[in-house]
Amino acid sequence: MAQIDNLPPLRDVIQTHGIAAKKNLGQNFLLDLNLTSSIARQAGDLTACDILEVGPGPGGLTRGLLAEGARRVLAIEKDSRCLPALAEIAAQYPDRLDVINGDALDINPLDHLTPPIRICANLPYNIGTELLVRWLTPPTWPPVWDSLTLMFQREVALRITATPGSKAFGRLAILAQWRTDCQVVMDLPPEAFTPPPKVNSAVVHFKALPAPRFPAEAKTLSHVVATAFNQRRKMLRASLKGVAPDIEDRLIASGIKPTDRAEQIDLERWCALARAVKA
Ligand code: SAM
Repeated sequence: MAQIDNLPPLRDVIQTHGIAAKKNLGQNFLLDLNLTSSIARQAGDLTACDILEVGPGPGGLTRGLLAEGARRVLAIEKDSRCLPALAEIAAQYPDRLDVINGDALDINPLDHLTPPIRICANLPYNIGTELLVRWLTPPTWPPVWDSLTLMFQREVALRITATPGSKAFGRLAILAQWRTDCQVVMDLPPEAFTPPPKVNSAVVHFKALPAPRFPAEAKTLSHVVATAFNQRRKMLRASLKGVAPDIEDRLIASGIKPTDRAEQIDLERWCALARAVKA
């Protein structure tokens, strides 16, 4: 297999720096640099882009991103044991890698990057959905980032890309598909990771749309959808009765039968309902 850089193999890096994987940090490392380079390539041509990476760990994906030509990578890593390994990468790629030792839920470093900005990460699964929702719901749209290329548990990836009528369709699909083009671009078996997780994984690529697919206020849409899918087996006239006293009229005005259930409603009608509720 082709060598992507002159740094030591990741197995050696982990051993040298004593980075035994910790479960509570969601540490399932990718050690195959050809694989991390192909994930980096899913983010497109990186040569003119700044990249935000959450959870670089020993740096497998970081090295892939840099070898693929990323102009600059800003990486946030909670585990300080990884810092020496990341410093070795930074030395190999002068002025192209900055590392923040901290919690990605507490820090929003997007302001420190220069557009065009892309986000690429093999996310810790315990915070992946939360980070995704934050990136999909910034105060204004379009967001500062152009695209997200993110690893999820396959089950979450399927929820993000689900279509109406399927069991996986819900809030994540609506939030993602309202404002981005998103698709699964890679499937990875557990053996791709060290240690292997119990589940399959998938990379999802999201391209930010210049404007949401249909008009709606983000907060109202999010509230209505979350309320409806919280009781997804109920008819909408029941699950949404707390949203507005005349919810049946608003459902009908949005082209929705009050007896329909949440998963039957497509994105366009969810946006119509958000507008009707807001009005
Ligand atoms: N990118 C590496 C790779 O592909 O091999 C590691 C991916 S591993 C699935 C997730 C990484 O996220 C770990 O290095 C872990 O320490 C880090 N991490 C976990 N929680 C974090 C948090 N709240 N903020 C920043 N990094 C976090």
